[in-house]
Amino acid sequence: GSGWDESHWSDSNEYMNKEELDSVAPDNPVLLRRVDGHLDCVNTRALKILNLPVDTVGYEVVDGEPTGVLKEDAVEAAAELLEPSVEEFAAGITTATKIAHRLGVTSIQDAQVDGRMLKAYRSLNQAGELNIRASLMLTTDYLDELATLGLGAGFGDDMLQLGPLKVFSDGSIGAGTAAISEPYLDNPRELGLMMWEKDDLERIVFKAHESDIQLAVHAIGDRAIDLVLDCFERANSQQMKVLRHRIEHAEMLSDEQIARMKKLNIIASMQPNFVGQWGLAGGMYDHRLGRERTMRMNPFASVIENGVPLVFGSDCMPFDPLYGIHSAVNAPYPLQRIPPEQALRAYTIGGAYASFEDAKKGTLEVGKLADLVMLDGNPFNEPQGIKDMSVEMTILDGKIVYEKS
Ligand SMILES: [Zn+2]
Repeated sequence: GSGWDESHWSDSNEYMNKEELDSVAPDNPVLLRRVDGHLDCVNTRALKILNLPVDTVGYEVVDGEPTGVLKEDAVEAAAELLEPSVEEFAAGITTATKIAHRLGVTSIQDAQVDGRMLKAYRSLNQAGELNIRASLMLTTDYLDELATLGLGAGFGDDMLQLGPLKVFSDGSIGAGTAAISEPYLDNPRELGLMMWEKDDLERIVFKAHESDIQLAVHAIGDRAIDLVLDCFERANSQQMKVLRHRIEHAEMLSDEQIARMKKLNIIASMQPNFVGQWGLAGGMYDHRLGRERTMRMNPFASVIENGVPLVFGSDCMPFDPLYGIHSAVNAPYPLQRIPPEQALRAYTIGGAYASFEDAKKGTLEVGKLADLVMLDGNPFNEPQGIKDMSVEMTILDGKIVYEKS
């Protein structure tokens, strides 16, 4: 299972340990993935089946005993063992597409795609059954192959194309693994995790940049964002190129970092829904980072003001763009709050710009693709009610793909 978020639990905000899971499921293996995908809670039976090496990064052991909490590398190792087949992926894409249409989504950028998932997308597209425009971000494992083949963002057709290469630089605030410069409030010895040694991250960024491969680097904590910007800076100083490189999430973004992004032409690819999910008073950010840092998280207004391209996406937490737009428009702190027009732009033309498709979609214009959505309310007139609005109709390529019954 997946999708849980301890910050929404009323009795305790602790992760589940294996004893708790054993008490409800003594015989069957149980693996429950946190909403952000950076942490699993598993029971004893699942630990036995997974049989991960104890020295795997993120395999939590206390007093010589695994706790049942897996983070980062341990999560990836578990995911590999549970990998679905191409057919199962294809069925999943079809199901998710129906949800997307109901939420008014006609294009997605799928992060963290591997060869098997690409095959599933491609088989649906060839059969004329891919009903959503997808830009696929391959995982870092494919860097060498992409460079050798000369492939990168934009390769494909109007339905399916390659996007940037997705690179992880750190974890998440919720898992306590985002790399930050001052310790977590709820864990004063913790500064989070960097996924790569500095030299290795630099090597990846240099190679991609040199090979004209757009990068989407996941960086959430300020320490991670700094390191990623250092890499971009050095890559650009060797050869100045505008490849629309992106920092994904950029939750803990300072003014100084925004200025550096502007100078380096880096896109801020952010999630407005995170403010609604975790940034409100008493929420997860408050709990883990304290109010002062919370107030400066996800500074959408500063990003726009300083001329850095802002792109909104949901990271599926939750998927609903209206919830995200609502969260940015009604955000609690001034650095985050933006008018409906800006939020809508970030969610439409912003996304198209980030995938090199702004010439063909993202605005309603003659000659552009006929992808549009009709809402049952007007976000400009009722900004406080955006999250309660719903989609009346979704049109993809001129055809109605969803109509509210
Ligand atoms: Zn990410």
